[in-house]
Amino acid sequence: MTTAMHAQHSIDRPASGQDHIQIVERYAAHNYHPLPVVVREAEGVWVTDVQGKRYMDMLAAYSAVNFGHSHPELIAAAKEQLDRVTLTSRAFHNDQLGPMCQALAELCGMEAVLPMNTGAEGVETAIKTARKWGYTKKDVPANQAKIICCSENFHGRTTTIISFSTDPQARNGFGPYTPGFEVIKYGDVEALRKAIDANTVAFLVEPIQGEAGIIVPPAGYLQEVRKICTDRRILFIADEIQSGLGRTGYTFACEHEGVKPDIYILGKALGGGIMPVSAIVSSREILSVFTPGDHGSTFGGNPLACAIARKVIELLRTNKYQDNARQAGEYLFKRLRAIKTDKVKEIRGRGLWVGIEFKKEAGKARPFCERLMEAGMLCKDTHEQTLRLAPPLCITKEECDWALERLEKVLA
Ligand code: PLP
Repeated sequence: MTTAMHAQHSIDRPASGQDHIQIVERYAAHNYHPLPVVVREAEGVWVTDVQGKRYMDMLAAYSAVNFGHSHPELIAAAKEQLDRVTLTSRAFHNDQLGPMCQALAELCGMEAVLPMNTGAEGVETAIKTARKWGYTKKDVPANQAKIICCSENFHGRTTTIISFSTDPQARNGFGPYTPGFEVIKYGDVEALRKAIDANTVAFLVEPIQGEAGIIVPPAGYLQEVRKICTDRRILFIADEIQSGLGRTGYTFACEHEGVKPDIYILGKALGGGIMPVSAIVSSREILSVFTPGDHGSTFGGNPLACAIARKVIELLRTNKYQDNARQAGEYLFKRLRAIKTDKVKEIRGRGLWVGIEFKKEAGKARPFCERLMEAGMLCKDTHEQTLRLAPPLCITKEECDWALERLEKVLA
């Protein structure tokens, strides 16, 4: 065998997990620090690695796989659309976009949808919407619009979005930064009141902060935010990319406080774990700031994405996933809080979204994730001290028990 053939062979069919990891190390940028597991296939809450070992997936691709891996109805919807048409661009209409926008607007109790692809694009779209709304509907002087956001936020990785991040690693080395943002403390309504001035167009907030470590704001926060935004005439933009679509036990985390924002930003699970699909959902009046050519994306609203999103919305309409997130979540929290351990500082979250923060003296969360991986369970640390659990929302009580057995051993 020649060297070239050997190289080809090893790229096509690397022998082991280690081979795969080495190829990634060699040929991919090192912008992630994944656990050393190489997944080959997956179904429901389970994934199987290249050696045939099964693991429970307690991360669900950061909530993009809310309905479980290889959900038969989602796969069928994707396959059916693959055989018809996948991409038209918005230069022409396709027969999936309209029904998807209608279904999503109705699910949100809103009027209109602007579809994009990744979450960060959804956030960028919301920022542009708020700015143009400020200039055209609120008489904010040109280029003076201000958007208020929160400390420890995570809204994505574009240059504009990292400009208002408070995480040095997200920002350092990537300036110059986009102006027009003011950061206030999360959960602090007084700080919001004070920060609003004549040029403020919006408050952008995660109803529960995900990447920060599943931080639930004080009770009544979102209600107060709603009231302040209405009174001061600024847009309340809820980034529900991670918290939405069933994760916390309701379709939207905002529902825990019975509030509706002016703009929902959705992503992740909207694509059923198959395609990147994001969208902002709002009123016709707010979305009317856009005219043809103002904004767009070649892939945004493509028929494959829309066919999958339609099925996602249909699944959410059954309320089955939200109900299970509430019930299984309650069970998981109850049993987790009963574990006798001196390592844990706090267990917090909502629905099937759990942050387990370790005391400093117990060490960082990563080694706990590694031990759980060895025991057959995949999850991920966030902000060093916190372990995040976010299983697919189809997890059963028996599967929760299986996970709890491992967690009890590793946390004890
Ligand atoms: N907003 C929130 C709340 C998120 O959690 C994320 C991703 O984790 C994003 C935005 C960015 O989404 P994406 O990675 O698809 O760009």
